[in-house]
Amino acid sequence: MTGMLELRRDLCRYGRRAVELGLVIGTSGNLSARSGDLVAVTPSGVALDALQPGDCPIVSLDGHLVEGDLQPSSETPMHLAVYAATGTTAIVHTHAMFTTVVASTLTELPPIHYNALLLGGPIRVAPYATYGTPELAENVRIALEGRKAALMANHGGMTIGTTLTEAFDSTRLLEWLCELYVRSLTIGKPTILTEDQLTDVITRALNPPTFPRRD
Ligand code: 13P
Ligand code: ZN
Repeated sequence: MTGMLELRRDLCRYGRRAVELGLVIGTSGNLSARSGDLVAVTPSGVALDALQPGDCPIVSLDGHLVEGDLQPSSETPMHLAVYAATGTTAIVHTHAMFTTVVASTLTELPPIHYNALLLGGPIRVAPYATYGTPELAENVRIALEGRKAALMANHGGMTIGTTLTEAFDSTRLLEWLCELYVRSLTIGKPTILTEDQLTDVITRALNPPTFPRRD
């Protein structure tokens, strides 16, 4: 189980950070990270800032408990479905405030800032299903297609990445984009970027100009 201790430590580190930043309260939210066909996941019903590495169960991709005394997060089926579908290696799920406001109100987060492209563009809201169910796992899997983030109706959000650092940063960005949209609505009608404008941003990012050197 090479590397699993490191992943369990990362779960504790980012669990603490999520609480510090107010992205989760109480025992809401869960995180996981994969190495090969093993997944380290936060335990169910434990506050994310109170975790020790040994508290984090290890499960196999096919859904068996491999190590740990505590039960894996109730959303483990959702994490496993996303690993199976995407080949990603880290997942963060929170009930962050603005993320949940948008997920409880819209069917998609419109791109009003070009940084939405860092998550793949407009973020879909997966239809509501009871937490922990295979139905929710399936809805989120579909909403994530071609994206690094999905919103979960009347629930929260999920982000993926190749490392927990990446998935966690995407969770912060998702919350920022949702807050931006909600705050923008309070002063008027936010302008949604067009497909052409978003394409231009991608073109610009792929071809950055270089500054000429001064002799
Ligand atoms: P767990 O404590 O089981 O991870 O549940 C928290 C949660 O966010 C359920 O959606
Ligand atoms: Zn949840």
